[in-house]
Amino acid sequence: MTSAVAPTTHAHPHAAGKYDYSRNPMIVYWEMTQACPLACRHCRAEAMTQAHPCELNHEESLGLLRQIAEFGDPMPHLILTGGDPLKRADLFDIIDYGRSLGISVSITPAASQELTLRKMAELKEHGIEALGLSLDGSTAARHDAVRGVPGCFDATVAALRHAATVGFPVQVNTLVSEETADDLPAVYDLLERHQVMRWSLFFLIAVGRGKSLLPVTPKRGEDLMRWIYQQSLKSPFAIKTTEAPSYRRIALDEMRAAGMHAAEIHRTPVYRGFGIRDGHGVVFVSNQGDIYPAGFLPLSAGNIRQNRLAYVYRNAPVFRALHTPDRFRGKCGQCEYRGLCGGSRARAYAYTGDPLASDPFCAYVPAVTPAFPMHA
Ligand code: SF4
Repeated sequence: MTSAVAPTTHAHPHAAGKYDYSRNPMIVYWEMTQACPLACRHCRAEAMTQAHPCELNHEESLGLLRQIAEFGDPMPHLILTGGDPLKRADLFDIIDYGRSLGISVSITPAASQELTLRKMAELKEHGIEALGLSLDGSTAARHDAVRGVPGCFDATVAALRHAATVGFPVQVNTLVSEETADDLPAVYDLLERHQVMRWSLFFLIAVGRGKSLLPVTPKRGEDLMRWIYQQSLKSPFAIKTTEAPSYRRIALDEMRAAGMHAAEIHRTPVYRGFGIRDGHGVVFVSNQGDIYPAGFLPLSAGNIRQNRLAYVYRNAPVFRALHTPDRFRGKCGQCEYRGLCGGSRARAYAYTGDPLASDPFCAYVPAVTPAFPMHA
């Protein structure tokens, strides 16, 4: 799996209140293909060497781009993921067409031999904004063991160097699980020696191939998130979490403990993520056109072959429910942080079959008063 990179160079309109996430997502993830030369051990996409025969063809792919453009202003950012997007023969035509429609585009290629300096320069020439790379260990032995792909670490470090050479902003995605947690400080040290725009820590949801790995306990997760917050204060790159939105609760707690006022909090990178969750601010389109709230929440609400993406995002029952944290059940439904956090809807679904259930990862016991005034 290649995981996703958030938009970077264009202005982020969240703080200005431009986004209404119940109408427009900030990010559309498109799994262009399942084809990938790597087949990593915890791949979300369950990647294979060949594309699925029912993958969206070229014309359908252009149609998807037109559907994304129908969201209008503010236009979502498109992240091309997979599998390996470089496996699509029409990749550059797709990028060019998307950009001609006013869609900004990032990409998360697999770290393979195909990700050469020349290929990166080409991606940059076609207007790709940023690149996402996965790094799950600080050494070849650790990374390659987690991924199950020999040589993957060296290819990733080479890709980091190529990206710096062509001036690509890079988001590095790192898995957080029992297998990687001890190594995270060393990964941080490694990233400090490279040009990295953002570090995204993905807290494992043990589904599909991910079942071969062990999630951290809620207690260990709390400790890690407090460490992540402290690192973020001194880090040369931004740090975020993926599928661990309760990091926002912890960050807010730390900011308040440090005496920060609301206006200062509004200016922080972590505030930009407040209110965004699976199906609310993000939407995922599979290689066969299915519309999911997120890549880790494979609950189809329609298919772009029969439905309009914007209509499904705004009106399908599952999306309407995900836009409404008051409808969440259990702890997350009662929690005073449900507007800015709301829990991982993907993990709730993975563990209970109910995308509105409580996120079993969170150790917090809700209080009763609103946590923070916001419009999510
Ligand atoms: S209980 Fe749910 S909404 Fe509250 S902080 Fe935890 S994950 Fe977030």
